[in-house]
Amino acid sequence: MNKRIAVGIDIGGTNTVYGFIDEVGTVLEYQEIPTRGNQPIEDLIERLDSRIKLFFKNNSNLSLNGIGIGAPNGNHYSGKIQTPPNLSWGDVHIVSIFEEKFNCNTILTNDANAAALGEKKFGVAKSMNDFVVITLGTGLGSGIFSGGNLLYGHDGFAGELGHVSIDTNGRKCNCGSIGCLESYASATGIKKTVKTFLERNPKDEFLQSINSEKINGLLIDKAFDAGNKLAQQIYEYTGTQLGLGLAQAANLLSPEAFIFYGGFSNAGRRILDPAKISMEKYLINGNAHTINLLQSALPKGQAGILGAASLIFNS
Ligand SMILES: [Zn+2]
Repeated sequence: MNKRIAVGIDIGGTNTVYGFIDEVGTVLEYQEIPTRGNQPIEDLIERLDSRIKLFFKNNSNLSLNGIGIGAPNGNHYSGKIQTPPNLSWGDVHIVSIFEEKFNCNTILTNDANAAALGEKKFGVAKSMNDFVVITLGTGLGSGIFSGGNLLYGHDGFAGELGHVSIDTNGRKCNCGSIGCLESYASATGIKKTVKTFLERNPKDEFLQSINSEKINGLLIDKAFDAGNKLAQQIYEYTGTQLGLGLAQAANLLSPEAFIFYGGFSNAGRRILDPAKISMEKYLINGNAHTINLLQSALPKGQAGILGAASLIFNS
């Protein structure tokens, strides 16, 4: 009998990762492609469609068990991606599109929930029942496990920590609200921080070099390590704002850990150390020292596809 494989797809604001995964979590092959969120979603679906069909054509000993998808504003209950904030798609019933194309079981969740499922089944959260996975990418997403269960909320949209306001006089967020955590602690947020710093230091070469449409975290990491004061201040500010948001979640949920995943999580302690100090300032119950801020230890980019695939194997 053919070995049964799940396709895990992790749709992000900038890039989409898809992979072919067996029941024990072995990623047989995976690839990252641009999401092209300014194009209609059919563009992404066509590119995925041809790649998935080619894989199974080239591997006739494998058969498609199902497709698990993590996507921004992916609603587990409705099967729809609902007006994702950083993509121009409006409402898309992605589950029925995939079921029709591939004639297989398709399950959707939001991108941060997929990462949380990946960490729970295969990553650093294997033995944890209460934790929050934070995805630091174009935006800030969060997937919450409480008492061993992923929280969906009554409408499927629980876990929007990125849109908890930490400053009602603060920055305007893409969602329409004011002062959302995401407008400080994410690629979008850091871009805004760089612009603010640049207003104060218009001639600074380092700030000019990182002030681009697509902000490059590695450049900031490098400057930070070389002792660049502005790079250090950018991360200090980002981490401090992040910690303020983490404290709100921690006071509410009492998690064992926050686990960071995605592009900007590679900055690691450079952001997480100031975040921990700031979080502890706003925590109640003196449980500060028991909450760990950890980085995902799964191979780069794979928590999302592993979690999305686990939806299929657990269904
Ligand atoms: Zn918002």
